[in-house]
Amino acid sequence: MKVTRATFDEVMVPNYNPAKMVPVKGEGSRVWDQEGVEYIDFAGGIAVNCLGHCHPAMVKALTEQGNKLWHLSNVFTNEPAIRLAKKLTEATFADRVYFANSGAEANEAALKLARRWALDKFGAEKNEIIAFTKGFHGRTFFTVTVGGQPAYSDGFGPKPGAVEHVDYNDLAALEAKMSDKTCAVMMEPLQGEGGVISPDAEFVKGVRELCDKYNALLVFDEVQTGFGRTGSLYAYQQTGVTPDILASAKSLGGGFPIGAMLTTAEIAEHLKPGTHGSTYGGNPLACAVAEAVFDVVHTEEVLNGVKHREELFKRKLAEINERYNVFKDIRGQGCLLGAELTDEYAGKARDFLNAGADEGVMVLVAGPNVIRFTPSLIIPEADINEGLARFEKAIAKLVG
Ligand SMILES: *Cc1c(COP(=O)(O)O)cnc(C)c1O
Repeated sequence: MKVTRATFDEVMVPNYNPAKMVPVKGEGSRVWDQEGVEYIDFAGGIAVNCLGHCHPAMVKALTEQGNKLWHLSNVFTNEPAIRLAKKLTEATFADRVYFANSGAEANEAALKLARRWALDKFGAEKNEIIAFTKGFHGRTFFTVTVGGQPAYSDGFGPKPGAVEHVDYNDLAALEAKMSDKTCAVMMEPLQGEGGVISPDAEFVKGVRELCDKYNALLVFDEVQTGFGRTGSLYAYQQTGVTPDILASAKSLGGGFPIGAMLTTAEIAEHLKPGTHGSTYGGNPLACAVAEAVFDVVHTEEVLNGVKHREELFKRKLAEINERYNVFKDIRGQGCLLGAELTDEYAGKARDFLNAGADEGVMVLVAGPNVIRFTPSLIIPEADINEGLARFEKAIAKLVG
């Protein structure tokens, strides 16, 4: 059956508006569409394909597991899930893992756990969740309400209650909102969708101190920053601040849908049998792939390589900017980078994305003013150079 982008509009719910071309094949950091046109992939499936497309270790893990055992539900456990949980706990602060299928689900579990922990320990009054404007935590109704863009949660009827927001990097505003009613503070250790915004080091430490002062849990949403993306397995490991609960997804599966919530043994106790669950969570195929991704990513070679790629990207973007003067800031960490457009091009990030696609390079946006780059953590230097050369051509055409 021949299908095209036009077929999409005939058969799909219109909540997405995908690009005009339809990709059919990927290898490393290159992708080809139905017409055979090649693209360099700086988007990585929105910070997901951390080892590029069709990495041999992932293909091997998937095919081997695919010939053994696909699915059991959580009525039974399975070896890949237990092995992956063991590796995650050994590599982080966490002692316990809950598996889900997406970032939103990992955050949903984190929020429900925080509420249940507070109820058990302090009573029903302690139920307030504080999060940050421009934060993004997923699209379930609870997570999207905790996210800091009301436009995403408006228009669906009554929202889950006891959710408050303050500005990111505004410790005084957080302090003013916190009380003994605060059950948890949820934050990204670097805001991704909100515009690639780093927290001040003092801010992160201050949030931890306030959580300790008011007996509130600190939840780090590392769905985008995690699994090597910023140059350490998780971004918290570079902040000197340890969360109580951490949500992981995106790069965790390298392209296979999986999410995970990590926490301590003491907090995990509060999700007793029957309190929460998922049919697919901890599926053997997903966990086998994530374990293969872990084995590649959790090495000095790959994590140091992320830092090297950050330097290369930032240097080359700065060079492009010397010639075209389109960016007012180039920022981010590791392979999660943002270039904010000057006031002259404010609101036009999507035009840059489209112009890039026309020249054969895939980039992302983070809001209307920021171009976002979330390539594979192992993207070859030659592909970075070629992709940025194509992007420069796109910029040249745009600025005329
Ligand atoms: C993408 C993202 C999510 C949502 O993940 P899904 O897998 O789309 O549900 C949550 N939090 C952050 C920080 C993200 O970047």
